[in-house]
Amino acid sequence: MSILPIYTFDHPILRKRLKLVEEITDDLVGLALDMHATMKNAEGIGLAANQVGQDVAMTVIDVGHIKGNEGMTPLTLINPVIEAFSDEEVADEEGCLSLPDLRADVLRPVGVQVRFYDLEMKEHVMEAEKLLARVMQHEIDHLNGVYFIDHLKPMRRALMKRRLQEISRGEIEAEYPLYRAGS
Ligand code: ZN
Repeated sequence: MSILPIYTFDHPILRKRLKLVEEITDDLVGLALDMHATMKNAEGIGLAANQVGQDVAMTVIDVGHIKGNEGMTPLTLINPVIEAFSDEEVADEEGCLSLPDLRADVLRPVGVQVRFYDLEMKEHVMEAEKLLARVMQHEIDHLNGVYFIDHLKPMRRALMKRRLQEISRGEIEAEYPLYRAGS
């Protein structure tokens, strides 16, 4: 397993709608393992394939080390689609490994129903709520080229402009390896 460098705002692959997986290959399984290792190393709770530069609709999630979610097994979601949202919405703080040191409250539905495939191409339909539902929405957004900051009001986002410029220019450090365009 390898720790992969994480792509940051505003690399073009983070704005892409990623390609659906048609078959499970050894390379894809290897990528999933690397993504789990990379997420863990960065102390993240979710990571999408384009955040490590790969154009495949796959994301990994692990909230098991977060209080209140103990015992939740790590997930690998292939071609995930949100099929239903709860009516109730709640705002909670989010961050993103591709946007180091930026955090903001994002309003999202509390619960979701997600359909996805696992690494054996077995289909699952899963209902999630609270933190897990939030992470699923954040990660599935990535697979469609969407950042959590895209959900913010323009005024709130404008306050982040300078930091976003610093990130896109690579003028940042993080506690985990970053991919720097041109490097
Ligand atoms: Zn993210």
